[in-house]
Amino acid sequence: MTPDLRIGLVGFGKIARDQHLPAIAATPGAKLVAVASPHSRAPGVANYPSLEAMLAGEPGLDAIAMCQPPQVRYQAARAALAAGKHVFLEKPPGATVSEVEALIVQAKGQGVTLFASWHSRHAAAVAPARAWLDGRALRKVTVTWKEDVRHWHPGQTWIWQAGGFGVFDPGINALSILTEILHEPVLLSRSDLETPSNRQAPIAASLSLRTTSGIPIEAVFDFRQTGPQSWDIAVEAEDGRMLLSDGGAKLAIDGAAQATSREGEYPAMYRHFAELVRSGRSDVDLAPLRLVADAFLCGRFRSVEPFED
Ligand code: NAP
Repeated sequence: MTPDLRIGLVGFGKIARDQHLPAIAATPGAKLVAVASPHSRAPGVANYPSLEAMLAGEPGLDAIAMCQPPQVRYQAARAALAAGKHVFLEKPPGATVSEVEALIVQAKGQGVTLFASWHSRHAAAVAPARAWLDGRALRKVTVTWKEDVRHWHPGQTWIWQAGGFGVFDPGINALSILTEILHEPVLLSRSDLETPSNRQAPIAASLSLRTTSGIPIEAVFDFRQTGPQSWDIAVEAEDGRMLLSDGGAKLAIDGAAQATSREGEYPAMYRHFAELVRSGRSDVDLAPLRLVADAFLCGRFRSVEPFED
């Protein structure tokens, strides 16, 4: 039987190996056919050094998953859409807001699906957290996203270059959850950014945000965390406390752990992508990327000690 969705993948790095390969294999009707990556090679599929070579060599591809660094994603997505392919964008969906907006227009014109994925939104406890917050009177929200960049991003030079997002590479995951679980828009009030003197992207950020009704949100992102790592969102409501921890995997209400599903983020995303393609729809929410852009626009920049990997 011919699969419904023959997928080509661009950028065979950590996330492609760890998550995309097993998730595509677990998606009914989806099949990984080819990979395009400048140096890395994937087992068991056709390999190409570039997207252009893959498009020429595999005319039967239905969709392309973009897993390369954000700085080079727009040109590739543009070429894939121009070739009539459905496109799955890893997060962040681009290096700028305007290029993703251009892709939305292009996908619509081509009549194909564009999916800007936010994997953290598919973490097991995010939907239950959103449900708990619905209709509740909230007092304040605290986001703590602190991880050791040497452990999680070894040798990823792109992350420190302009357009690589620095600490906002994980921080945007927190913002993607925040904008999913709160039931009103989130605005940026203040942003303090610390950038190593030998790098172009921040190593730490402290943000004040608020909802349109004025609920205060404080967020701290830090790449220098050693010891315990934190990916937590805490909410104080009039009638209780919610803690969403482990990047959205765990939920506690008033200190009591809540049962959540054990399904992984990426299988859920590929199921959603396949459904979008089947139903001829796109799904591109720019809210997390806009908040990062706002943090850079309003940022008070401070140069800090050099960072060496
Ligand atoms: P990575 O390990 O550095 O891999 C990036 C890959 O992109 C490399 O293997 C490289 O290929 C390829 N690449 C570089 N320039 C390219 C180009 N011009 N055309 C095609 N491929 C190119 O990075 P990663 O961690 O997988 O992250 C990639 C994206 O996924 C980022 O946007 C990141 O935010 C996102 N993401 C990462 C994680 C994570 O835990 N790592 C989680 C979720 C999302 P070669 O090896 O062939 O040189």
